[in-house]
Amino acid sequence: MTTPIDGTRVLRDLYELRKIGEYKTGVHRPSLSNEHVMSLQWLVERLKAIDAEPIIDGIGNVLGYGKPTTVKLLAGSHLESQNYAGWLDGALGVVYALEAARVINCNDAFNAAAVEVGAWCDEEGHFGHLLGSRSFCGDVTESEIDAAINRTDSGKMRDALAKAGLAQKKRERLETGRYIGYLEAHVEQGDWLESNDLEAGVVTTIVGVWQFKVNFEGFQNHAGTTRMAIRKDAGLAAAKLCVTIDDCFPKAAGPRTVWTTGRLTLDPGAPSIIPGKAEMLFQIRDADSRVLARMESLLYELVADADRSGPCHAQVESLRKSQPAKMDERFQAALETAAERIVPGKHTRMPSGAGHDAQIFAGQMPAGMLFVPSIGGISHHWLENTSNEDIVLGAQIFTDAAADLLRQELAVSS
Ligand SMILES: [Zn+2]
Repeated sequence: MTTPIDGTRVLRDLYELRKIGEYKTGVHRPSLSNEHVMSLQWLVERLKAIDAEPIIDGIGNVLGYGKPTTVKLLAGSHLESQNYAGWLDGALGVVYALEAARVINCNDAFNAAAVEVGAWCDEEGHFGHLLGSRSFCGDVTESEIDAAINRTDSGKMRDALAKAGLAQKKRERLETGRYIGYLEAHVEQGDWLESNDLEAGVVTTIVGVWQFKVNFEGFQNHAGTTRMAIRKDAGLAAAKLCVTIDDCFPKAAGPRTVWTTGRLTLDPGAPSIIPGKAEMLFQIRDADSRVLARMESLLYELVADADRSGPCHAQVESLRKSQPAKMDERFQAALETAAERIVPGKHTRMPSGAGHDAQIFAGQMPAGMLFVPSIGGISHHWLENTSNEDIVLGAQIFTDAAADLLRQELAVSS
């Protein structure tokens, strides 16, 4: 059964949000900037209009607590953007959650059920790692916030919270057992759906991300007078490892494993000096922790080989490991059923290569995620876009899945 949404209203909301911090065809709305705070207030006003009791909490999360009911679903995403980036990353999921709340909470058939809307601060990592959703789930200490620094301007998160008028507010905490689960929609940010002529993706797992630092130690020396045969060039050693990884990783990788050297720093980094040190930031992503473990061992082997064969020393250090997060089977089925109704035959199950707030919520309750196509697979760029038609279809799938999940729960509890 379809629970009809108002597609024009969904598009109007998204276009309004795009005006807040507009940059070319995208937005610049970093966490806790004036524009981000304006977008939070925008959401607060929309939630008031549906008789929710919205609050902005002490870490910049918006929570729209709904009417007192027995069965509640939590839905949302984030409102800040990457710097000078896309208009739909995050905003789409918040507006879908808002539309689902508007349609379901005001529907007599759902008297005993409600969708509650959340916008989680700093999913994009300006100050930390998924701080808003982790804070809501009780996984952020005061000292982590004390230490959080903006990666662009080095400003303290405490100062940004104070400037936003949030310093004195308490942080909201997830009440155990309050929700039947968490539902989030997002633009795919890749080109899988578009290249396969599909309209919707049901996320199976959110990939784990394992990050490493590889340090090379050579010998800094004169680039003109040092004979090639006796050099210990740390930069060259790092470059060689990149090539070796590129040769060896495909043999051990899963079908969707990806790996990236995101930063290579040479020290001292001058044209006439042979680098004495090099540092390489390396990342592996996969939906299966066994594959991640296999790739990790291979990385350690390759670094040990490089160290042994010289002339530079090489050492690898693990920086952070987020584990893959499985989406709930019943939530996947609800999204799939709704997708089959709205876009028959044009949907698929797929892992998410990007991190999302849903991976945090999956540790607390059943969670599900829906993807809509990204034109050209572009994201984290102001050219990010999705057609109006796909936006509206996605909103309908999302609301239908939310309604079905609530209906199932009502049937059980009655
Ligand atoms: Zn996002």
